[in-house]
Amino acid sequence: MARFQMLMRSPAVGVTRSPAFGVLRMLFPVIVAAVSAASEAQSAARPRIIVAISVDEFSADLFTEYRPLFKAGLHRLQTGVVFPGGYQSHAATETCPGHSTILTGSRPARTGIIANEWYDQSLSRADKKVYCSEDPSLPGSSSTNFTVSAQLLKAQTLGDRMKSANPGSRVVSVAGKDRAAIMMGGHAMDQVWFWSGKSFVTLKGMDQPTPAIVDKVNAAVAVGIMKPDLPVLPEPCRVRSVPVRVADKTVGVPRERKAGDFQGFHTSLAFDRATTDIAIGLIRELRLGAGKAPDVLSIGLSATDYVGHTFGTEGAEMCAQLLGVDENVGRILAALDATHQPYVVVLTADHGGQDLPERNKMHGILDATRVDAALLPANMSKQLAAEFNLPEPVLLGVAPFGDIYLARGIPGNVRSRVLEAAKARYLAHPQVAAVFTPAELRRLPLPSEPADEWSLADRFRASFDPERSGDLIVAPKPHITPIIDVSTYVATHGSPWNYDRKVPILFYRPGVVGFEQSLPVETVDILPTLAALIELPIPSAEIDGRCINLDAATGDSCAFERH
Ligand SMILES: [Zn+2]
Repeated sequence: MARFQMLMRSPAVGVTRSPAFGVLRMLFPVIVAAVSAASEAQSAARPRIIVAISVDEFSADLFTEYRPLFKAGLHRLQTGVVFPGGYQSHAATETCPGHSTILTGSRPARTGIIANEWYDQSLSRADKKVYCSEDPSLPGSSSTNFTVSAQLLKAQTLGDRMKSANPGSRVVSVAGKDRAAIMMGGHAMDQVWFWSGKSFVTLKGMDQPTPAIVDKVNAAVAVGIMKPDLPVLPEPCRVRSVPVRVADKTVGVPRERKAGDFQGFHTSLAFDRATTDIAIGLIRELRLGAGKAPDVLSIGLSATDYVGHTFGTEGAEMCAQLLGVDENVGRILAALDATHQPYVVVLTADHGGQDLPERNKMHGILDATRVDAALLPANMSKQLAAEFNLPEPVLLGVAPFGDIYLARGIPGNVRSRVLEAAKARYLAHPQVAAVFTPAELRRLPLPSEPADEWSLADRFRASFDPERSGDLIVAPKPHITPIIDVSTYVATHGSPWNYDRKVPILFYRPGVVGFEQSLPVETVDILPTLAALIELPIPSAEIDGRCINLDAATGDSCAFERH
């Protein structure tokens, strides 16, 4: 690269010394050749560290809106390969399914992670609801009091595959949320750290000594939480500070986090900063990239999602949060530079999101509204119980939309009639777009068209697991927010619509010429793309994704996969 920079600077001299300039003009093809040789050499350098960053709820819409404001890490990543509108292609656009696609190359139909929570009525315990990163086989586990585990993830992650190819590879996962850390890390992690609500913790039974950075961050966070935090709004965010009334509260204008407010910590800049501090500390402490085999680090920055849920996506709170993400990503890149090892970074999100309906209405989306209480599973249950003279609950469901289960206790002779009646009731409701049955989804092939062209049924097919999915799968119409009680959260995601499916996907390798592609790729393409860079074989029948050639010059970063 030094030689190339020297040649590029020379023409300024050549303007006054025409013979020299003439020589340089003759040399131009040589310069071009040198540049492409340099980029080929770069692309040929196998990464020693693979870093996957997931920014929870970082929709393609937010990326597009804030691109001009990024000055640090998210600015630098845009010099690499940019897919501004990638897809989490499946319908159930929640945290756990989304994170399960990022490093497995597989959609939820294959990872088995169909939602954050679902029902499993075969469980012997009283609580039939299952949390995606619990191990329900452990005695005493429930969906709210669980031991964090990758037990329910049916697919292998990049880390799992690297570890079985070479036990010397280290698999490290750090996130604000346990489900983000687990679904990206997988079944064979060397280090995993996530926020428990009080401190960063690891899995039960992981018996390695606690890294110094984790103790340091936990101590600092414990002190910080007990102090009030008055956010200082960055200058470009000030114009976005407009109050929006939602029931008896106001969002849109950042407020002080009170001393000792642990819930408020989730939406403060300190949360992602602490997660980033641990990730950076582990890069240094474990000397990632300096071992015998490549290492993988996944980082889940979770605060953006809490900000989206608590304040919506279009206020000053989100502006400050995303500028904070930009800064944190910049710090991660600087820490990677300092290793002097070749590395690759991919940054994406587990799902998109939409703003709260009250502000969406103010911003041109006139049909934005909250879900009708009649669609809550308990209320649908009540109506069906009355119609068929059955005991409640007739239906079980985590939310008004998505997987709805017919209760096991409903006698066999009425089951199909009750389901038909339930389907008809859902379909008659003006907020429901479609209702699918397992039989309908099972018949569909796995989608193979570009993700922006999928039918609604295709999207639900990609989320469908015959063992875990509901007896009815209910799709909302666009712009319906399935939150009625706004005391904690005012906005959400989880729908099959593109504002929840579209996420940026950015790949970055220092010194390698990038490109931008507005046509969609999917988050399931990340695994084969990264695996090819380290020549890790991935049988294509095991995954849904395809390798993306990251080389805008003459190289082919997928050459290994194509063998
Ligand atoms: Zn969320």
